[in-house]
Amino acid sequence: MPSNSAPLSFDIKPNTNPMPETDRLAAFENLGFGTLFTDHMAVIRWSEGKGWHSAEITARAPFPIDPAASVLHYAQEIFEGMKAYRTADGRAVLFRPEENARRFNESARRMAMPDLPEADFLAAVEKLVAIDAKWIPKAEGSSLYLRPFMFASETFLGVRPSKEYIFCVIASPVGPYFKGGAKPVSIWVSQDYTRAAPGGTGAAKCGGNYAASLVAQAEAYAKGCDQVVFLDAAEHKWVEELGGMNVFFVMEDGSIVTPPLGGTILPGITRKSLIALAREEGVTVNEKPYSFDEWKADAASGRLKEAFACGTAAVVAAIGTVKYPQGEFQIGGGETGPLTTRLRDALVGIQRGQSNDRHGWIHVIDGV
Ligand SMILES: *Cc1c(COP(=O)(O)O)cnc(C)c1O
Repeated sequence: MPSNSAPLSFDIKPNTNPMPETDRLAAFENLGFGTLFTDHMAVIRWSEGKGWHSAEITARAPFPIDPAASVLHYAQEIFEGMKAYRTADGRAVLFRPEENARRFNESARRMAMPDLPEADFLAAVEKLVAIDAKWIPKAEGSSLYLRPFMFASETFLGVRPSKEYIFCVIASPVGPYFKGGAKPVSIWVSQDYTRAAPGGTGAAKCGGNYAASLVAQAEAYAKGCDQVVFLDAAEHKWVEELGGMNVFFVMEDGSIVTPPLGGTILPGITRKSLIALAREEGVTVNEKPYSFDEWKADAASGRLKEAFACGTAAVVAAIGTVKYPQGEFQIGGGETGPLTTRLRDALVGIQRGQSNDRHGWIHVIDGV
């Protein structure tokens, strides 16, 4: 569909059986990640010949799905992750949602799925947040996590792009991603598995990348680590990223190194925002390959001062310990370093509407 097509109009069908307020407020007392869901969802359908149609905001409910639906067999599925915040002065805001809309379409193209006009993506997200605005938690570190996704829904077992898709947005009030709160995380360096190969789907936000990472993540848990970090598939030498977060290194001279994008790394919006914030502070950011051998040597020599992972869900998480089959090492004495803290605070301040949004990254949802 051309992106200049007329915006879709949404049929708004309020849930006639919403969660009682007392239950919702009780659930807010103990927020986890991705276990509690709001009363509604946004749905838009696509069919060949017709394009996008039947946009609606409706009660959150299961999809009836045919056992031959192509997503169940060939994993044609993509998603996004973003958050709505309630600011101290009462606004409901999103952080750089246009970036999610654009990246969603980049993922769609890689997976031979139709583009969704950015305006329709944004309208679906905004209308869902508006109808479920009371579900935005206010406690520090909490937010309304939004999950836009699209899957192939055609009933067909042949191998080719589906002729029908469902786009949906669901919302989940969340607390901090890591149970340890702001404590540094430990990570396992996967030796046997890689996440993305040149020419593969590493830069697309598709469910299949996650499916392929789970066995490595399970190994990380078995080794007592919180997360797994992947090396490149071609040489098994260069640090790429975690299962769902980009990675940064802070050097002794105050500069930052982060692996360059190039098809095998997911272009994180948090990554991009932190690079911009660091450069504005006068910090040199080098987007350049960094090997696991350099990482070990720099940690041993003290040249490496801090390391952190970042993404929408966890925002910024310091990396305290790194384990691999032959040993382990610590970074920054296992504590969160000063630049990591400063960058996290700067980003969170903007996201939560506490600092001056000089970049125009905050998107206020009107009338909510
Ligand atoms: C979503 C994701 C990230 C982080 O992207 P953000 O836009 O910062 O949330 C990093 N790596 C992978 C593999 C991801 O799927």
